[in-house]
Amino acid sequence: MSDPNTMLLQANLRQLKLPTMLAEHDKLAREAAEHDESYHAYLLKLTELEVATRTTNAIAARIRAAAFPVTKELDTFDFTATPSVPKQTVLELARGGWVDRHSNCCLIGASGTGKTHLASGIGVSLCRLGKRVRFVTAAGLVTELEEAHQQHRLDRTLTALDRLDLLIVDELGYLSFSRSGAELLFQVFADRYERRSLLVTSNLPFGEWGTVFQGERMTAALLDRLTHQCDILELTGESYRFRESMQAKQAKTDRTTKTTKAKK
Ligand code: ADP
Ligand code: MG
Repeated sequence: MSDPNTMLLQANLRQLKLPTMLAEHDKLAREAAEHDESYHAYLLKLTELEVATRTTNAIAARIRAAAFPVTKELDTFDFTATPSVPKQTVLELARGGWVDRHSNCCLIGASGTGKTHLASGIGVSLCRLGKRVRFVTAAGLVTELEEAHQQHRLDRTLTALDRLDLLIVDELGYLSFSRSGAELLFQVFADRYERRSLLVTSNLPFGEWGTVFQGERMTAALLDRLTHQCDILELTGESYRFRESMQAKQAKTDRTTKTTKAKK
């Protein structure tokens, strides 16, 4: 049974919402007594634990809120497999200076070249730096905006998007939008201009964005804003997925050939 002082201390720690200090104070106090540590050293250790747990939890919460489709990180991206992507530029993007400057990033390349992986990797790094990030597909965002518009809560949705330091819009170009959908997406892009950052991935070169946005004027106005301050990375080469499955097939063929030879 705890003594009254300990019980009061625990009640205070609960009221002050210091769960790690609540969980650890007793163990650390015993260790401090054993090692003859000063009161200050004890308190410092205890508060350091609370701060560290809070930081870890805040990062995890930001990554959850960002809603990455899969949490792919940059340390699993093989830069030698995609030589068109300069590693230094990507690492610089992961440091987040461009988000502080409210500039943009576009990743352009065919399917399977690693756009979503890079976008997630950069996004996760920025969550770790304390930035508010959200990952959406272009089609998902347009549906969300259209629904909000129909339900008269577009303002609320736009305000929530506006709070984000970085909005990642993946897969622009796979689907074209209705005129109203394109206008809503344009509004989001235009609102962010020089205020908040966008990272857009697309399988289409800029010259073909007119097919998505219906209308050369809107496309030109959008590209003008998006690319004004923008890192543009072009991912060339064969699909990583395709290469991997070809390699797997080749390995299987090699194994079968070896087994057949061994049998002979
Ligand atoms: P895209 O979005 O361009 O269609 P993805 O990013 O989805 O392509 O990549 C397809 C798959 O290949 C994913 O599983 C991704 O993790 C992997 N991939 C692509 N490029 C690389 C790379 N350079 N290193 C490691 N994995 C890669
Ligand atoms: Mg993708």
